[in-house]
Amino acid sequence: MKNNKELKGWLSALNLKHPLVIAGPCSAETEEQVLKIAHELKDTDVNYYRAGIWKPRTRPGNFEGVGALGLKWLQKVKAETGLKTATEVANRAHVELALEHDIDLLWIGARSTVSPFIVQEIADALKGTDKIVLVKNPVNPDLALWLGAVERLSTADIKNLGVIHRGFSSYDKTKYRNTPEWQMAIELQTKFPDLPLINDPSHITGNRDMIFDVSQTALDLNFDGLMIETHFDPDNAWSDAAQQVTPASLIQIMKDLKIRKESTPEVDYNDQLQNLRAQIDVIDNQLLETLGKRMKVAEGIGLLKKQKNVAVLQSKRWNEILGKMVLEGEQYNLSEEFILKLFKAVHQESINHQEKILNK
Ligand code: PEP
Ligand code: MN
Repeated sequence: MKNNKELKGWLSALNLKHPLVIAGPCSAETEEQVLKIAHELKDTDVNYYRAGIWKPRTRPGNFEGVGALGLKWLQKVKAETGLKTATEVANRAHVELALEHDIDLLWIGARSTVSPFIVQEIADALKGTDKIVLVKNPVNPDLALWLGAVERLSTADIKNLGVIHRGFSSYDKTKYRNTPEWQMAIELQTKFPDLPLINDPSHITGNRDMIFDVSQTALDLNFDGLMIETHFDPDNAWSDAAQQVTPASLIQIMKDLKIRKESTPEVDYNDQLQNLRAQIDVIDNQLLETLGKRMKVAEGIGLLKKQKNVAVLQSKRWNEILGKMVLEGEQYNLSEEFILKLFKAVHQESINHQEKILNK
């Protein structure tokens, strides 16, 4: 894949003074709904109006989108409000219909990015157009698969590309609908600094109360824009009701977000510092999560030992672990002194958890 300024070209050409904003309902439901929301988003910082026309639902029997009819409503949105339009495409027929209806920006959904066949079909159908195409991350946290999809489009000579970070499925229950795994977005940015990177806090959180915080983290991590699902009556939306915000809340969110300022040397320093600190925050949270998981496993060991009436402290195994960690720590440039202190503390905490179980 090409890694050059050309890629961020379409975004720079918009000449925005703020991050790119794509907003609109999860799904187009009725003509009135589509137009009402669009009119409420007119004359705001919203740049593209989104609405899903074909909806990938986890189970059959739910609302699966209004289909091609909705594309006419999006054309009306553009004519009446001047907002540019965006929708998800998942096969060749979708692409052809979207092109016929002059949709300005197309995105490939998370469930499509996982399939090289589908992505290739979409890339072939788009060959030679100058549409903006954004690739959502695949549902599974696989950076190579995500980049592979971008590469298929790039190879089909689609120049106006970008990616949308919408989080990843996980078996573990977390506070997110799709866990952000921010480090993947950070890695992607480091490898391809010129590929526009948009955050989708709606599908990451699944919860409108968390949209602001996730959006702010994304901006602190240098994301180029946000895609936020917006509906005038979120609770009664036909899909993704819990995560949609009203146009008024969206406007408030955009007002409250701390957005990076023009670059002067001093602001540059602050921006870089803020970005690095945001990375540290993400990593610290991962450390906590990992430590929490480790203690859960230790408790499992505690239970086993209790059943078999075995002592908590197994010093032979512990000395082996410590020695191994000191050696492995060297590879990460971590001093022996630090490793010993750290793992003694971790071990002590494990013992405390196990003792609690044994003495219950
Ligand atoms: C959507 O944007 O409405 C959507 C279906 O998203 P995702 O592909 O991220 O699940
Ligand atoms: Mn949705």
